Amino acid sequence: MIDFRTGIGYDVHRLSENRQLWLAGVLIPHTHGLLGHSDADVAIHALCDALLGAAALRDIGFHFPDTDPRFKGADSKILLAQVTTLLSQNDWNISNVDITICAEAPKINPHIPQMKTVLAETMDITPDRVSVKATTTEQLGFTGRREGISALATALIFRN
Ligand code: MG
Repeated sequence: MIDFRTGIGYDVHRLSENRQLWLAGVLIPHTHGLLGHSDADVAIHALCDALLGAAALRDIGFHFPDTDPRFKGADSKILLAQVTTLLSQNDWNISNVDITICAEAPKINPHIPQMKTVLAETMDITPDRVSVKATTTEQLGFTGRREGISALATALIFRN
């Protein structure tokens, strides 16, 4: 009997000048980047929360507090790798993950193949188990005003 669990994740970061824009593990050329204690990769943060949520292992802020100097400027891929390790230590395997990035700009679609590759490598799963999607919010709300970027994620995990 296979035990399946699902989880969801959501995150928002503010856009700011003089910051690099990291999304789903990929550095994207843009006029602004996301502000945060780590590299502020909003897509990876939502993904980590989806994976942790599926395993009922609290959330990213619990494991990687933004008051901890070890995570200042941290590459979020390292956080995702640690979440993956935590899941495997608890006998969980990742079936698939699905991410939606909400951003008015820049264009995300050209970067999606690379995002899939990078995320799959970081989680040690095949890219066919990783979905990354992008949408605008039709110029509505904080994402529409280019004040920030949000991301949603779901994950399905299983153990035998
Ligand atoms: Mg975050």
